[in-house]
Amino acid sequence: MLDTGQLIICEHCDSVYHKVTLGKHQKAVCVRCGAVLQRYNGLTLQQRLALSITAGVVWILANFYPVMSISLQGFSNSATLWDSVRALASGPITFIALVAAISIIIAPMFQLLILIWVLLFALAGQRSPGFRFCMRWLETLRPWSMLEVCLLGALVAVFKLAGMLDVLPGIGLLALGALSLLIIRVAGRDVRELWDTLP
Ligand SMILES: [Zn+2]
Repeated sequence: MLDTGQLIICEHCDSVYHKVTLGKHQKAVCVRCGAVLQRYNGLTLQQRLALSITAGVVWILANFYPVMSISLQGFSNSATLWDSVRALASGPITFIALVAAISIIIAPMFQLLILIWVLLFALAGQRSPGFRFCMRWLETLRPWSMLEVCLLGALVAVFKLAGMLDVLPGIGLLALGALSLLIIRVAGRDVRELWDTLP
């Protein structure tokens, strides 16, 4: 039987290729449609686990510290990510609050929890309980995790409001920036390499 573990399919045009080992700064590109098939990622299991745990700590900072504080004529107010979701929930479009909560809080949290769970076992050279389920969920959650969109929104708000009020970016905003970068690094498409590392 054909060993399908050695093949890679272009997600954009369904062409099938043999996987290659990439060197630093290299990427494999589909000859038919030009999409990127594989990108070099020098992370070892230990490094990926360490960065995932760091991201977990940063997630806590991003959620419990204010993203920004505003003050006007002596009155000041600060808001965390949860406050923003709660404010949306009490507005006219409650549904958006749910989408926001999933994409900026819940999806990144589950991505990190699943990653840490899978990687802890991977370090011992074995598949975690529910490995296949976890790996499928990592793929499912990725498009839902939209921290960078939230970060962009928060930055736009900071600049827009800065003209009218005293706006102070908070620890939460810095943490949000760091978290978006970390999640892109540890939970990108290349986590699928774990299928090959743990046959
Ligand atoms: Zn293609």
